[in-house]
Amino acid sequence: MNKKIKYSLYGIATLVLITLICVFAFSSCGTNNIIKLASKDANNYDLSLIYNDDTKSLYGSSSVDYINTSKDNLSEVFFHLYPNAFREGAKYKPVSDLKKDEAYINGESFGSITIKNVKVNNKEVQFTIGGEDNDILIVPLVSQLYPNSRTTIDIEFDVIIPNIKHRFGYTDNAINLGNFYPVACIYEDSKFDTSPYSYNGDPFYSSISNYNVSLTCDNDFVVASTGELTSKETKDNKTTYNYSALAVRDFAMSLSKKFQRLQTKADGTNILYYYHSDEQPNVSLDTAKKSVETFNKLFGDYPYKTLSVVETSFVHGGMEFPNIVFISDDLSSYEEYTNAIVHEIAHQWWYGVVGDNQNKDGYIDEGLAEYSCILFYENNPEYNITRSEILSNDLKSYLLFVEVYGDLFENFDTSMDRLLTEYNTEPEYTYMAYVKSVLMFDNLRQLIGDSDFLKGIKTFYNNNQMKFATKDTLILAFESASNVPLQSFFDSWIDGKIVIASN
Ligand SMILES: [Zn+2]
Repeated sequence: MNKKIKYSLYGIATLVLITLICVFAFSSCGTNNIIKLASKDANNYDLSLIYNDDTKSLYGSSSVDYINTSKDNLSEVFFHLYPNAFREGAKYKPVSDLKKDEAYINGESFGSITIKNVKVNNKEVQFTIGGEDNDILIVPLVSQLYPNSRTTIDIEFDVIIPNIKHRFGYTDNAINLGNFYPVACIYEDSKFDTSPYSYNGDPFYSSISNYNVSLTCDNDFVVASTGELTSKETKDNKTTYNYSALAVRDFAMSLSKKFQRLQTKADGTNILYYYHSDEQPNVSLDTAKKSVETFNKLFGDYPYKTLSVVETSFVHGGMEFPNIVFISDDLSSYEEYTNAIVHEIAHQWWYGVVGDNQNKDGYIDEGLAEYSCILFYENNPEYNITRSEILSNDLKSYLLFVEVYGDLFENFDTSMDRLLTEYNTEPEYTYMAYVKSVLMFDNLRQLIGDSDFLKGIKTFYNNNQMKFATKDTLILAFESASNVPLQSFFDSWIDGKIVIASN
């Protein structure tokens, strides 16, 4: 059929208008629009913090403009109080016995968060502290909060920072402030998720939110932070830093009097490198820049303006937070240090932009961050690390682990989507979420081929930005990229039924 369309003037005007709308819609589908869109129906945190270096404590007040994004009416709102995992007598401790001596360099030390006062819509309320380990703040609402409605919750709190090389803790080198303020629990399946802290993995699950944060501290501190520094004010010997961060899952900082700073640009992003004892800071900065450029190209753009990489004291290799990563200052080699930079930066894509419930789906963000390292080295051959070398080491160590643990534990479980608290030991979690997950992704790559594998990662990134990815959305992305049914492939790996043998 051939049908000629006669354009009237009105028709042409309409077409022009439609074209303009399309062009506008497309152009605003760019990076910033992802942030704008995600920041719209999100919680807004207004945090005001005063840091006291003599007592290693923080006084904080948080005003949360909370939105009910569920379909239920809410009569209370729950918040995680993660610092309470660092208190004396905590049931769920922040480090395993294996890592305790390494983490508490000056002997055991305790931290906590004390809630002093809570107001809802300016009216003081009787809050309670609950959860499995006194780690949840329960705020009763003055009246029912209907879906899509907002309420203001003001929380006044004191934080004691422990002397520990951790996400939350101080050492002679820096004060790490990760997961230090009351964080709204995710509401799903008609209840708040109150999963406790765990020394296995990163026990965090929080929604995309917006932050305005002010921190007052001594003048001689250098501060690295999530978000953008919007203003700075110095009075007597104190400086107040004001930060703004839109559409991020969390807010973290690190302060030090020892930090030096280098800066560069990777595509459109400012890369800030804070360090205190790195002897090759320019090389580390260059690795950070190459990581962002490589992942922008392979996965899709990093949508934020700034990324800070911080050399700090941390018992594990590194830790990811939105727009900021902590890299441990006592890794055994510079090669390991470099690898930690690449891995943590990869988390900006996997955890940061594409979230997951890290209490049970850590294999998604850890596995992808580890696999991103392989892709990084393949794309940057000057590092002289090959895919086959990494995979051969991973396979060998995984098989050894299975052999040893198979003898140790009668019902040895190799499933990858258990709750963090269900793993027998810290190495068991590490082998499942990191090593086995890498083997799974490489096996998938061999099954569907390089091109569809990379297309699948891109699709996964694109489809899950600012959301929580799950096993189902992971399968969907790779199936749509490859046209290969993959449910049973992922089931067998994730449920632990697959038998892995040496090649
Ligand atoms: Zn990681």
